[in-house]
Amino acid sequence: MKVKPSVAAAGRSGHGYNQALGCGGNEPLPEENEVKGLPFIERCLLCGRRCGIDRRGGKTGPCRAGLFPRVGAWVLHMGEEPPLCGTAGSGAVFFSGCSLRCVYCQNYRISQQLFGQEVSLAGLAGIMLELERNGAANIDLVSPTHYAPHIAAAIVRARDMGLGLPIVYNSHGFDTPEALDLLEGLVDVYVPDLRYSDETVAEKLSGVKGYCETARGAIERMFRQVGHLVVDPSTGLASRGLLVRLLVLPAGLAGVEESLLFLKERFGTRIAISLMAQYHPLYKASLHPPLDRTITPGEYEQAVDTAIELGFEEVFIQDLESTELGIPDFGSETPFQFDVGAAEKVDAMKMEEKGRCA
Ligand code: SF4
Repeated sequence: MKVKPSVAAAGRSGHGYNQALGCGGNEPLPEENEVKGLPFIERCLLCGRRCGIDRRGGKTGPCRAGLFPRVGAWVLHMGEEPPLCGTAGSGAVFFSGCSLRCVYCQNYRISQQLFGQEVSLAGLAGIMLELERNGAANIDLVSPTHYAPHIAAAIVRARDMGLGLPIVYNSHGFDTPEALDLLEGLVDVYVPDLRYSDETVAEKLSGVKGYCETARGAIERMFRQVGHLVVDPSTGLASRGLLVRLLVLPAGLAGVEESLLFLKERFGTRIAISLMAQYHPLYKASLHPPLDRTITPGEYEQAVDTAIELGFEEVFIQDLESTELGIPDFGSETPFQFDVGAAEKVDAMKMEEKGRCA
């Protein structure tokens, strides 16, 4: 089966830090007492590591998140699935730090090397409002788990100041019930990864125990909050619901078929899934064969065929040839290379009917 071309989408963006938004710089951040009083800052249980660290005094757990949120970039981002991008892009906010240690992380500069800068709650709300003013389709919170309490507080502030966009929570899936309960009623669209179906592989490649159990539980909780993906037919944009991402890894390491079977059993074939072809051997991947290569067309088509054979009705696919565009450079003014104007192709990314690409 042929995989049709996908969004080779646009990457118009701003990037950087705006002192006018209260985003730190060399100035001490305000709100320290308020942030120290947020839920789970005194004893952090926000990700599946459940390390219980007290973040109030500058200590950090394995994710290296401190008292205030740290942001690597905020951009209008055309690299997401079409219902998240529209024509202007999602309003992506990339958070620094991560509780996973994926040896192949494409965002390692912010996730592992902590590129970015601390922002206040007011600053984070200001970023959301700035993205809305710039035409973003939504507020797309990327790697947000370790800052869930800050994000909840900032969303409330931004809503009070007029923010009208849907909130998208775009996580690795290693979210605890405690984190997700903070977000109930605030997040409109959940976009979690389901990276593995084998705990041994997850521990070897991402450095955490219990990933599969935690991520599957998180997806069930997310679904209870928002249900199936809802796309506004007049705009083509997601307004609510769940979209699960499965990154295809070399040599079947992601266990995509097992994850698809789980999703079908728990949620039926209406659940929206995104089969991601963008794997690149970045960060430490060259040390971990077979992760030292990209995936083959055959490996990707096998994942797509499996989804079709299982009867999934809402499947997003990618073009293998455009995946290099998704490698970010977080030190650049435009961290992504997606070219403006390719958004017309978005419908080609969605399979309209079982067994056939649009
Ligand atoms: S989010 Fe960070 S501090 Fe909190 S439990 Fe996970 S690793 Fe520990």
